[in-house]
Amino acid sequence: MHEATKASKVSFFDYIVIGGGTTGIPIATTLSANYSVLLLERGGSPYNDANITNASNFGLYFFDTSPDAPAQQFMTQGVPNARARVLGGGTSINAGFYSRGEEQFNKDAKLTDVDLIQESYEWTEKVMVFGQDVQSWQSAVRAGLVEAGVKPDNGFSYDHLVGTKVGGAIFDENGTRHTAADLLQYANPNGFSLLLHATVHKILFKHKGRSKPRAYGVVFEDTFGKKHVAYLKRRKNNEIILSAGALGSPQLLMLSGIGPKDQLDALNIKIVLEQPFVGQDMADNPLNVLFIPSPISVERSLVQVVGITPFGSYIEASGGFNIIFVNLSDYQGYTPEMGGFIYEKVNGPLSKGDLKIANRNASDNPLVTFNYFTEPEDLQKCVKGIETILKTFNSEAFSNYKLANMTDKDILDLNMKIPYNLIAHGNTSTSLEQHCKDTVRTIWHYHGGCHIGKVIDDEYKVIGVDSLRVIDGSTLLNSPGTNPQASLLMLGRYMGVTILSQRIAGEK
Ligand SMILES: Cc1cc2nc3c(=O)[nH]c(=O)nc-3n(C[C@H](O)[C@H](O)[C@H](O)COP(=O)(O)OP(=O)(O)OC[C@H]3O[C@@H](n4cnc5c(N)ncnc54)[C@H](O)[C@@H]3O)c2cc1C
Repeated sequence: MHEATKASKVSFFDYIVIGGGTTGIPIATTLSANYSVLLLERGGSPYNDANITNASNFGLYFFDTSPDAPAQQFMTQGVPNARARVLGGGTSINAGFYSRGEEQFNKDAKLTDVDLIQESYEWTEKVMVFGQDVQSWQSAVRAGLVEAGVKPDNGFSYDHLVGTKVGGAIFDENGTRHTAADLLQYANPNGFSLLLHATVHKILFKHKGRSKPRAYGVVFEDTFGKKHVAYLKRRKNNEIILSAGALGSPQLLMLSGIGPKDQLDALNIKIVLEQPFVGQDMADNPLNVLFIPSPISVERSLVQVVGITPFGSYIEASGGFNIIFVNLSDYQGYTPEMGGFIYEKVNGPLSKGDLKIANRNASDNPLVTFNYFTEPEDLQKCVKGIETILKTFNSEAFSNYKLANMTDKDILDLNMKIPYNLIAHGNTSTSLEQHCKDTVRTIWHYHGGCHIGKVIDDEYKVIGVDSLRVIDGSTLLNSPGTNPQASLLMLGRYMGVTILSQRIAGEK
């Protein structure tokens, strides 16, 4: 692991992987077994940064607006959001909940080898996934969800099962975060190079004498603003793999000349391939939150329990701190330490937006829209999700939790302070539909922009050019499972093994 400032001006590798994140690290690590690999990450190291490594510091990096902060903020249609800018990618700044994707995801993602899917999950889990110690707040949510009809209680499981369960986490029993960077312990150190603070600005293409343009190198910049070029060695089957995430990958394709003509023309970018689908169908799963104040402190927890409803709403909870960064002014007298959150995520979603490049600087955010709740089906899932949260809150199991911890006056106070409760009892003119729209926020599971069948083929190769694949959250049609990191880590390992084994077989 070196700073890009130390890199030579020109270098040569069999594989160049752009983006040292959730998907990019398992790919690069796996390919290094037999080939030379350069992994380029625009951010710094997650190690020795207590804000990243310590679970109870979750989200502090959202307040760091320096150019090298591990989370880069962006805003879409009034909803604040964030993307990773650090080795480990999303796994270095996320809430850590780990739950495998559903069968349908494997089909959509064209992953057909069931044994390899299982092995790839286990490869990750061995290094960076842990069980969770569920205490009273999360236990109350779990029992309340089951009583509210999110059945059966599936106990602890990594699998995607309808009902209520406890999932895994990338935090160990001491609350220490294990990121995708921990998977680098699997890498073959011979011929593997990882550069930090290496921002890729462009993928280079050769056209001459070819039926299709071929990717053959990348230009990246170090923190001094110095440009470096890394080329693919002249060997058949060498490739560049773009894993810069749902915002980074479509952005970099466009900056390199692959994208909608009008956008490339507007910024005077030379067209390599006109591709109207790059940046299309961006989606973010809407999240709506219920804060439950408590007169006593609630134990701190990130996501531990999830209710997987049959109607497509996923219900999760956290407690003891404001991980969702809601405005608590409605709950005077209560602090996030004195309360818990129950929230629901709409799966899919069906509502889509798009991504456009704002300028030619790869370090800046592109412009993104998600158009939350433009599809009525998403709105109905939200309404049903909130109704289920209310049932959970009003369940006997939850009453027992309240009774054990609060006085009668506290409970009365609490019920008065929950506007959603009032809504459910018909005491307000606001409909739940309107409430969903008014209080929408993100669970940071945005995806899309380089879809299978549109921008890439079933092998994740960019359609219309040679020697370039995109493998990361930008390829997803829907957010997999309840939370996507497990599926993306698996996808990285799966594709790494697939590329490697096909190539070795072909070269024999
Ligand atoms: C705050 C937050 C909380 C979340 N909570 C959870 C959770 O609890 N559970 C869960 O399963 N999921 C969670 N997620 C979602 C999950 O972490 C992401 O979906 C996943 O990490 C995305 O993986 P990726 O490989 O597509 O992109 P990333 O992991 O973001 O990787 C992309 C990498 O590319 C780098 N990059 C981008 N552009 C360039 C460039 N031009 N040059 C060089 N490098 C570049 C980035 O710095 C980044 O490291 C959360 C996400 C966030 C942001």
